[in-house]
Amino acid sequence: MITVLRQITTSALNLVFPQSCVHCGKDGSLLCDLCIRDSTAVSKDVCRKCAEPLAKPGTCTRCVIDGSSLDRLYGSFLYETPVGTAVRAFKFDDVRALAGVLGGMFNVESMNRSEADLILPVPMHKSRLRSRGYNQSEILGRKLSRRMGLEFHSDVLIRAENTVPQSEQPTAAARKTAIQGAFSVDTRHESVVLGKRVLLVDDVFTTGSTVQAAASVLKAAGASWVGAAVLTVQPIESLK
Ligand SMILES: [Zn+2]
Ligand SMILES: [Zn+2]
Repeated sequence: MITVLRQITTSALNLVFPQSCVHCGKDGSLLCDLCIRDSTAVSKDVCRKCAEPLAKPGTCTRCVIDGSSLDRLYGSFLYETPVGTAVRAFKFDDVRALAGVLGGMFNVESMNRSEADLILPVPMHKSRLRSRGYNQSEILGRKLSRRMGLEFHSDVLIRAENTVPQSEQPTAAARKTAIQGAFSVDTRHESVVLGKRVLLVDDVFTTGSTVQAAASVLKAAGASWVGAAVLTVQPIESLK
């Protein structure tokens, strides 16, 4: 009920007060053209599993040594850009109207459409979903699935509650430990991923521990390939 009221209020507010850019404040749209142009796209010369900058496209030493369970990472923009501001506003300030703008911003051209069979969003735990009212990754994933013409399932991957959000974990190692055992595949829907190529969707990729944990659970459930499409990538150096 509160969620519905909030949605009505947000829509009414948008009618009374015209939209303004969440990054620069300019009137007209929620993310203005200038800010979109100022947002740096993820370079082609990065690790294909973690987006770490490399001299040429390939797999970085860390991903080779760690044996990443992710087969491919597709990042669209760097997080420290206006698109990152919009992701934060979408997620933490409840600017749900940004869904349309952000969902259309995945760099679909860089992705190989025939690589995946279906899209799964990185899930949120039920209690978190209740308090926020929506899972931003589910909204983005649904939009991306329509653009790519792929099946979409939001009930296959389940997330257990983690007491401290990943964004508040102090180090990369702490993130990795906290997320272990966080995901599982719903036994009623195991057949959906068995032998299938799955593309996970999330809003931010930082250390990769979240999508890595989800990918290894999907592989254990029989997925033959697991990639991830993330709207923004936050270079790991910024956490060290
Ligand atoms: Zn702007
Ligand atoms: Zn890598």
